[in-house]
Amino acid sequence: MTIKTETPLTVNAYINGEIVESEQHEPRENPAKPQETAGYWPLNSVDDAKRAIDAADEAFKSWKKTDLNERIERMQKAIDKVRENQNDLVKLLSEEHGKPLYDAEGEMTVSLMFMQYAVDNAERVYSETVNEDDRGKNVLRHEPIGVVSAISPWNYPLALSTEKIAPALLAGNTMVLKPSPMAPLTVTLVTQLIAEEFPAGVLNIVNGEAEIGIELTSNEKVRKIAFTGGTATGRHIMKSAADTIKNITLELGGNDPAIFLEDFDVNDEAAMRRIVISNFLTGGQICMIAKRMYVHESIYDEFVEKYMEAANKWLRIGDPTLEETTVGPVNNKQQLEFVQELIEDSRQNGYEIREVGKVADEDFFNNGYFMYPTVVLGADYDSRVVAEEQFGPVVPILKFRDDEHAIELANDSELGLTSSVWGEEEHAIEVSRHIEAGVTMVNTAAIQGLDIRYPFGGVKQSGIGREYGEEGMLEYVDSHVINIPKQKDLPHIPQ
Ligand code: NAD
Repeated sequence: MTIKTETPLTVNAYINGEIVESEQHEPRENPAKPQETAGYWPLNSVDDAKRAIDAADEAFKSWKKTDLNERIERMQKAIDKVRENQNDLVKLLSEEHGKPLYDAEGEMTVSLMFMQYAVDNAERVYSETVNEDDRGKNVLRHEPIGVVSAISPWNYPLALSTEKIAPALLAGNTMVLKPSPMAPLTVTLVTQLIAEEFPAGVLNIVNGEAEIGIELTSNEKVRKIAFTGGTATGRHIMKSAADTIKNITLELGGNDPAIFLEDFDVNDEAAMRRIVISNFLTGGQICMIAKRMYVHESIYDEFVEKYMEAANKWLRIGDPTLEETTVGPVNNKQQLEFVQELIEDSRQNGYEIREVGKVADEDFFNNGYFMYPTVVLGADYDSRVVAEEQFGPVVPILKFRDDEHAIELANDSELGLTSSVWGEEEHAIEVSRHIEAGVTMVNTAAIQGLDIRYPFGGVKQSGIGREYGEEGMLEYVDSHVINIPKQKDLPHIPQ
């Protein structure tokens, strides 16, 4: 089955097994050419969100009782459909988001890979187990939680939605998903493709702004929230969820440190390319990307020189639909202005600002939400460009004295999502042990260092709970123990 993805594309909500034509649509501009519209997304009402929740609540009554094999079969068919359409979907994603083709392909790969992992591991993770020993018999069940509200951000709109859909539905939950208005088209199409393989009401999608999110996170019929987005929004969501004590998974912001130890080889060109791409993949708009670079003072000068060479070679800024482009525009004007504000603050503080990379077509560059990837040297450790999550194409490079100093600087943040340590492997692993983060990568960073078989998530204000791996799948179930002990009475009841 093939789907229509030509732009400008109009997408709609999908509620209770039906496409719901919206009365009002909003344009999603193409960030590389803001005068062009990539498509139109429905501005759904709070009533639409309520209807979707009601449908999911009704569907849950029977979906929770379905056999796991049936869920696996349906999800496999859904994945196959997405796979069949992946090339067209990748182009659409690139156009509405601004991420270059290789990057959109990467997101599609992660999306398919984790959905397939969830299917392949569903039986192992979700089946009930029965254990019997001299203390009695225990049946451990993994019960679905109920209606799940899933809310995703704009930077990785597809993968951060499908990684919630697959485990939630396989576990027997139903779902209402709300994507971000900044990249709503591909994810809405894909969600619809998946939803069509399930009974009406099992998977629903509504689009809209914060008020839809507020309904999805406060409605009493919702039992679980799976949220990915900023830390400030995460705080609102915890408050919304509090009244009815909802189960929550929060994947929030990151300000990921990258530490380059004194034994890191600055002449390793492949590693230098990896670093540069780790800084500017998706134009720096990724939660798990190296955002603060700490370099040992003994290799700092040479590091900066080699870094600039690699950045100027590998950062080709331009039309995201061209194969050679490695950096596209910033996704939206507001984010572009925020990043420029951080650079201006750095300039006013007297830090050294260096623009890197090559622009092929200046006219094209000047029309879209483009900016040169920017490196800031000599910033104070507590400056804005270091302390705030920039979420865009600017990165500070700073010096440290010794391992202890690097660890102290890396951990000096309320965020703790991912991190990376670069250098001799055993030395890097030892330093990694002291970093406060959910994931630390050695000699790589960003998506290249993601292993979807293992849990992913943040410590401190970067979140609660995990996605990916078995641990991520278990976020969508409540355990239910049926205990039949041999010793049924308290042993020491006074006679
Ligand atoms: P955001 O928090 O502004 O928005 C995320 C989603 O929440 C959107 O769909 C938005 O419409 C919705 N929303 C906004 N206000 C809401 C409210 N009050 N209640 C419920 N929903 C609400 O985030 P963003 O700008 O789309 O994404 C960027 C942020 O996401 C960055 O901080 C980034 O680090 C983070 N992020 C984290 C991860 C992770 O896995 N930890 C992954 C990607 C992005």
